[in-house]
Amino acid sequence: SLKANRKGRYLFFDDSIQQKLQYEMSLERELRGALENQELSMHYQPQVCLETKKIMAVESLLRWKNPKLGQVSPIELIRKAEETGLIHQIGRFVIKRSCEQVAQAFASSQQQLGLSINISPLQLLEPLFTEDLIEIVDEYGLSRGQITIEITEHVLINDFDLVTPVLNQLQHSGFSIALDDFGTGYSSLNYLYTLPINEIKIDQSFVRNIMFNKQSDSLVKAIIAIGESHDLKVVAEGIETQEQCDQLGDYKCHIGQGYLFAKPLVLDDLKNFIQNNSNT
Ligand code: C2E
Ligand code: MG
Ligand code: MG
Ligand code: MG
Repeated sequence: SLKANRKGRYLFFDDSIQQKLQYEMSLERELRGALENQELSMHYQPQVCLETKKIMAVESLLRWKNPKLGQVSPIELIRKAEETGLIHQIGRFVIKRSCEQVAQAFASSQQQLGLSINISPLQLLEPLFTEDLIEIVDEYGLSRGQITIEITEHVLINDFDLVTPVLNQLQHSGFSIALDDFGTGYSSLNYLYTLPINEIKIDQSFVRNIMFNKQSDSLVKAIIAIGESHDLKVVAEGIETQEQCDQLGDYKCHIGQGYLFAKPLVLDDLKNFIQNNSNT
C-alpha cells in the first residue's frame, strides 16, 4: 500500500542517515586515539624534473590505518580533524614526522632536496605557527629554503584576509608557498599578483584529461604560461602515463609528480628511490 511504501521509504531514509551518523561518530572516536595509538604515518611522493627525471623534492602525505575502520582516506581524516579541532595536534605530527624522516632520507643525497607539506588553513591561523615551524625545521637540521607549504586554492577564497599575513610571514622567513590543486578553485588570477606564492600545482584532473580533452589541454598550457610570466615553479600532479609526461615536457612544465615516477612511498622505499635515482 501507499502507506507501507511511504513507511518503507521513510525507514530507508532513516537508516542511511543513521548509518552516516554512526560512521561520523566512530570516525571521531577513533581519530581521538589515532595519534596515541600510533596509527598515523607519513608517505613521501617524489617530484621529479621533467627534463632530467632527477628527483627534486618530495610531498609528504598522511596515512591512517585503524583497526576498526581500516585505511581511512586523508581527505576524510583531515575533514574530521578540522571539525573536531584535532587538526592542531595532527598537523604538528605531520610537520615533525615529515622533517624527521626526510632529514634521514636526504642525508645520502648530493643535492639539496625539497620537502612539501600540506597544511590546513586552521593551522595557519595558530598564533605561533611560523615560530613553531622554524623551531621544528631547525631541530632536524633542514633549511627553510627546502620547505614548501602547500595550501589549496579554496583556502584563499574563504580566508583571504586572515591567511595572507601569515603567508607573508612564512615567505619572509624563507619558506616557499605552493597553491595546491590549482585551477579547481575558481580563484581570481589577481591573487597571483598580490599573494606571496612561489609555486603552483596543476590539479590532476586536468593532467588526466590532457590527451583527450581540448579544454584540459589548453587550460594546462595556460597555467604553465601564467607560471612562466610570474616566475613561479610549476608542478604537474597525477602524471600516470608517458604521453602525459611528454606533453607536459613539451609545454615546458618544470616538475612532475605521479604514479609514472613513484607512488607515495614509506621511508625505506624513499631512501631506495633516492639511491637508484642518483645512479641513473
Ligand atoms: P594533494 O595534496 O593534492 O595530494 C595529491 C594526491 O594525489 C595524493 O592523494 C596522492 O596519493 C595522489 N596521487 C599522486 N599521484 C597520483 C597519480 O598519478 N594518480 C592518482 N590517481 N593519484 C595520485 P592522497 O594521499 O589520498 O591525499 C589526498 C589529499 O588529502 C591531498 O591532496 C591533500 O589535500 C590531503 N592531505 C594528504 N595528506 C595531508 C596532510 O598531511 N595534511 C593535510 N592538511 N592534508 C593532507
Ligand atoms: Mg598537496
Ligand atoms: Mg593537489
Ligand atoms: Mg588534491
